[in-house]
Order: sequence, then C-alpha cells, then structure tokens
Amino acid sequence: MRKKIAAANWKMNLEAEEARQLYYDISNVKIPKNVTVFLAVPFPYLASLSLLAKSQPRISIVAQNVSQHTSGAYTGEVSYPMLRSIGVNWCVIGHSERRSIFQESNEILKDKVNLGLKEGSNLVFCCGEPLSIRKKKTHKAYVENQLTASLWQLSASDFDKVVIAYEPIWAIGTGVTASAAEAQEMHQYIRLLISQKYNKKVADQVSILYGGSVKPANAKELFSQADVDGGLVGGASLKAASFSQIIKSFG
Ligand code: PEP
Repeated sequence: MRKKIAAANWKMNLEAEEARQLYYDISNVKIPKNVTVFLAVPFPYLASLSLLAKSQPRISIVAQNVSQHTSGAYTGEVSYPMLRSIGVNWCVIGHSERRSIFQESNEILKDKVNLGLKEGSNLVFCCGEPLSIRKKKTHKAYVENQLTASLWQLSASDFDKVVIAYEPIWAIGTGVTASAAEAQEMHQYIRLLISQKYNKKVADQVSILYGGSVKPANAKELFSQADVDGGLVGGASLKAASFSQIIKSFG
C-alpha cells in the first residue's frame, strides 16, 4: 500500500534554535498510524535533526536540494554522499523555486534523479505548471513533459524510492489552493501516465503529494481525494500548531 505523507518544506526559514524547537514540537505530535512525516529542512540543520529523528521512525529528515555531481570543485554545493554520511536518505528534487530562481532545467533534474538512485537516495520529485499554462489549459501536457524529461528513464523498481509532488506554481505561497477536484484530476492523470509508461502495480504504489497553499482548513478535503496521498507544505509547516493539524488531517 502506498504511503500517506505529510511533508514540510521549511525553505530558507528559521534560525537554529527555532528549527530545533519546531522539530521538538512536531516530534511530540501523535502521528496517525498510517502517516509518515517528512521535514525538508535547510542544509545547516540536516545533521543535528537527522540524529534526533533516529528515535522517531515516523519522521524523516529530508534535504531540499542536492548537487547533480558526486564530488569535486563545485563550491557551495552539497552531494548525495555527504547527505548519506549524515544519515539523510531523502531529497526533494525539482522544486519550482529551484527550477525558476536557480534555472534548474529538466536535464539537470534528470541528472539529479539518476545520481540519487545510483547513490541510494529516496526522492521527492516535484512537478507542476505555471499560471500561464493553466490558463491555456495545457497543464496536463506540461506536467507530462516534465515527467518524461526527468523521470521516465527510471526502471519500474526504481519507483520504490520515488514520491511525486504535484505543485501547481500558481498555488505555491499564494494562498490560492487548487480545488480538491483540480488536485484529484491531476493526480489521477499522473497515476495514469505511470501505469501507461510502467504498469498499474507501479502506479498504485507511488505516493503522489499535492503542494500549493495546503493549510489546516483545506488539508482534510484534499487528502480525502482518491489519488492524493498527502501534501508538501510550505508556509503552514512553519508553525507547529498548523502543521500538526495538517498531520492529523488524514481520513
Ligand atoms: C512548497 O513550498 O512546496 C509549497 C507548496 O509552499 P506553500 O505551502 O507555502 O504554498
């Protein structure tokens, strides 16, 4: 059965003491039995929080980004082997902010995906369309192209280590959420694409998260959709009170 996941993306927020406190607050939440919590935290906090999370099997500490190179002269970059060496075996790949602000292309993301699988990492692969594409109603083709370009080179068995996050860019950090029906339509479509490219068994076991202004008020309805297996949450994950409500929003 596929995993139900409440994933926090802290982005470039929180200083060390605030991060530690938020971690403690979340680690005290009673996580529903079938749910796993992901915390995608800034690089400086990965080592200490992954050490703390060793005693919390239902919480995984996740990197927000990683280099497409293994080692060498790449000043400022962080590699998969470095993450592995501090016990971090999950990484977010292709967040829309990485794609737009840092010009990460589908090709770079394909390299990050391939290297991640080779280095034994698990991946949260993000996709999603900008508003202009949604307005033209070409969002399905747009997302299909992102998946074809960076993910469909994987083998069926690789998908044991991949979670997909569908995050329409027009809903990220804007307060505008896709309706539950809009989210379900895209998640169902992504699952259909997986079953066409691989098979139904693979499609049925891949967790697909929705991201884009998830908050306590809408999480329950979104997570109750047949193909929505949880959320990737930015703003509302920065406060223990709101993220803990989201964690408890699974039916
Ligand atoms: C995100 O950072 O992936 C995100 C969905 O942010 P927000 O929840 O703030 O829209």
